[in-house]
Amino acid sequence: MSRFLVLFVAFIAFSAHADVRVLTSIKPLQQIAAAVQDGVGSPDVLLPPGASPHNYALRPSDVRKVAAADLLYWIGPDMEGFLPRVLASRGKPTVAVQSLAGMQLRHFGEDSHSHEQDQDDHDHDHRPGSLDAHLWLSSVNARVIAAKMASDLAAADPANATRYQANLKQFDERMDGLDQRIKQRVTGIAGKPYFVFHEAFDYFEAAYGLKHTGVFSVASEVQPGAQHVAAMRKRLQEVGKTCVFSEPPLRPRLAETLTAGLPVRLAELDALGGTDTVDAKGYERLLEKLGSDLAGCLEQL
Ligand SMILES: [Zn+2]
Repeated sequence: MSRFLVLFVAFIAFSAHADVRVLTSIKPLQQIAAAVQDGVGSPDVLLPPGASPHNYALRPSDVRKVAAADLLYWIGPDMEGFLPRVLASRGKPTVAVQSLAGMQLRHFGEDSHSHEQDQDDHDHDHRPGSLDAHLWLSSVNARVIAAKMASDLAAADPANATRYQANLKQFDERMDGLDQRIKQRVTGIAGKPYFVFHEAFDYFEAAYGLKHTGVFSVASEVQPGAQHVAAMRKRLQEVGKTCVFSEPPLRPRLAETLTAGLPVRLAELDALGGTDTVDAKGYERLLEKLGSDLAGCLEQL
């Protein structure tokens, strides 16, 4: 009993040390931070569920959060275009993870995949040759980000340094298992045709041997011209049975027009992890759900 008490008191004492305020721009980075801070502290996030990092507008409360955070992590100027202006006046450590050594970065159009459906009304840069900033959908990159967070946290909070390092080690080990589970989950769907509305999944696809057939890249609010819709429908007709994935929370109105009367299944892929809870295993759930949502639709074709 007394041993329990000692452990309990020790736990409280350690918890009281959780003074490092970690802030991330988007939820996937928050999930990685939550794994590293597990048992010590809880990271905060700027973007609310359903918001897009490409076209977010900061609220006054967000600006206060940015100023107050001890450590801030964001993807970089190719993703959160709304951040550089407020970061300019921030004096504390700020990490654009796209610039970390060891990151495996991709550029759009690298592997000659077709961009013939592209329009210029998408809300961020997906032009061939530009950096694909959806880099968090690779477990290799997540490990790099987690390692940086662990060393930053250890420096800011030496009392918990061993805990951060232990959490990092566990995270790395779980990534091995995760990669195996996802590979297994998607083995049956390799080569099956599917389309996406937002070219956000190339890192995930490259890691697990998948490839989308095409992109209907149109901003969700804009209804494209009749000619463009006809061209996209023609592409779907040629392919036959297929899945078309939009991103929650909004299904583009175009989705229904585009697929009416065709053997197409509409489904969703969530690159940001939407409304999932934040905890040490949240990042794994994000990737695993992408695999099972892809497989879930494509297996039914
Ligand atoms: Zn995007």
